[in-house]
Amino acid sequence: MTKLKQPSVIAREALKQLSLRKLAPTPANYQACYNEIANLPNVAGFPEAPLHQISAALTANTPDQEKQIGLLNSAIVRRNWRDVQEALVAFTSSGHSGNGGNAGAPKADNAAPVMSIRFMTNLAHAIENLLPALGDDDAIFSAQVTEFLQALRNPSVGISGVEVMLASFSHRVLIAAEDQAEIKAMLLKLLHLIIENIGELSIDDNWLKGQIDALLVAVMPPLTLRRLDDVERRIRDVMAKQTEAKVRSMEAQTEMRIMLSTFVDQLSMMNKSSSVFGNRLEESARQIEEVKTIEDMTPLLKDVIDTTRAMAEDTRTAHEKLHTLQEKALVTERELTKLHLDLDHASALARHDPLTDALNRKGLDEALSREIADVRRKETPLSIALLDIDNFKALNDRLGHETGDAALIHLVKVARECMRPVDSLARYGGEEFVILMPDTPLGLGIQTMTRLQRKLTTTFFLTGNEKVLITFSAGVAQMTPMETSAEAIKRADKAMYLAKRAGKNRVLGG
Ligand code: GH3
Ligand code: MG
Ligand code: MG
Repeated sequence: MTKLKQPSVIAREALKQLSLRKLAPTPANYQACYNEIANLPNVAGFPEAPLHQISAALTANTPDQEKQIGLLNSAIVRRNWRDVQEALVAFTSSGHSGNGGNAGAPKADNAAPVMSIRFMTNLAHAIENLLPALGDDDAIFSAQVTEFLQALRNPSVGISGVEVMLASFSHRVLIAAEDQAEIKAMLLKLLHLIIENIGELSIDDNWLKGQIDALLVAVMPPLTLRRLDDVERRIRDVMAKQTEAKVRSMEAQTEMRIMLSTFVDQLSMMNKSSSVFGNRLEESARQIEEVKTIEDMTPLLKDVIDTTRAMAEDTRTAHEKLHTLQEKALVTERELTKLHLDLDHASALARHDPLTDALNRKGLDEALSREIADVRRKETPLSIALLDIDNFKALNDRLGHETGDAALIHLVKVARECMRPVDSLARYGGEEFVILMPDTPLGLGIQTMTRLQRKLTTTFFLTGNEKVLITFSAGVAQMTPMETSAEAIKRADKAMYLAKRAGKNRVLGG
């Protein structure tokens, strides 16, 4: 970049050049020399009007460009070429990223276009990130988006052009988002239909029905990834148990069929042999009628006795065979009943406690490992609460075990109302429950448990005409990154024990 000379230096040099080149000392010649040395365009007069026209034709896209147009206008009025040049250079470099000009404009002003280009790039990124959620079945929309992204990354495209495209994009996004929401609702409806249908088909299978009911509850909106994960696990359970049951049932059916056909064979053989024996006896009876002497009678009697004996022997063997078959059939039948009972137990109750439908220990272990993985990945707090019903033994003794059971079911129902869908509730032991609260620091965990405590005091449950009030003592611990879930539960347990010692019906942090 050429170094700018002082006007007095230029003036002196211009005079020198006039004499060196032996030019007539006219104002025009002097100005020509001056302009040449100052590196300015050699125009006769100052073109004020055309320069104003140029200035009026400029459009400012940024506040800095607006300022440069002002400076340009003032330079034109002052007929100052250098300031005209500086204002124009600054104006053009304001339209690009970075500070390309040497116009000496203040630094903060040059930051504005950088911001706006960064803003456009960020907007382009945001749109790209949004695209997978909108689907790609609309070719026109895809082409429009590509054009828009190109425009956002092209600094020469004016704000007004981007604005138009953004408005059209927003409109399309709205339509696409509505479509996606509708698709989601339809899929959910379909899922409900399928689940209900499976339930109808397998009306006799209690274990399957239990799972189906749980599934229907699980797919109620609002859906979260955690709940969908639970739905998937349950469906896999149902499928696995169904396959297992089907294979075993088919085996048992085959066994029964073989036994049945053996029965039939055996019966028809008995029938046949008795008719053979019958013929032989008939024959003997006919011969006996024709016999004249007692000596002739002896061999015939022997025949009859032999035939009768053989008949008895045959019948006994057949009976034995039938008896064995009958026992075998009973064993198979018992096995089938047990299989069904096992399935009842193994599937519907695989992760859930049958009395309260809270998670059981296995379900809790699974939920814990899922939450702990989340804690480690996202570094979010996880609070674990352990609660134990107060004086439960006394309640059982006074009102009976069934009322005790109803109290457990009541507690779970009320707890669910206080919990968020992402929280998990598990029956840890007889009258002890664990609640996992993801994304929850200790203070908030204690608050949640206290809220549940208050809710329980206002929500009685009735047995006969008696209002029963249940209270609990709870300990809450926030998981630390270094400890295992068992250690965290132990801390919550200790806090719960302290709550009992302090008079019960309270929540303490561990
Ligand atoms: P505390 O306030 O100190 O916890 O006293 P508590 O009586 O609640 O505790 P304790 O451990 O002495 O007794 C717990 C009782 O819970 C004993 C047991 O019979 C009862 N229990 C455990 N599981 C069940 C169940 O499934 N149904 C019913 N009805 N009772 C149960
Ligand atoms: Mg207890
Ligand atoms: Mg107790």
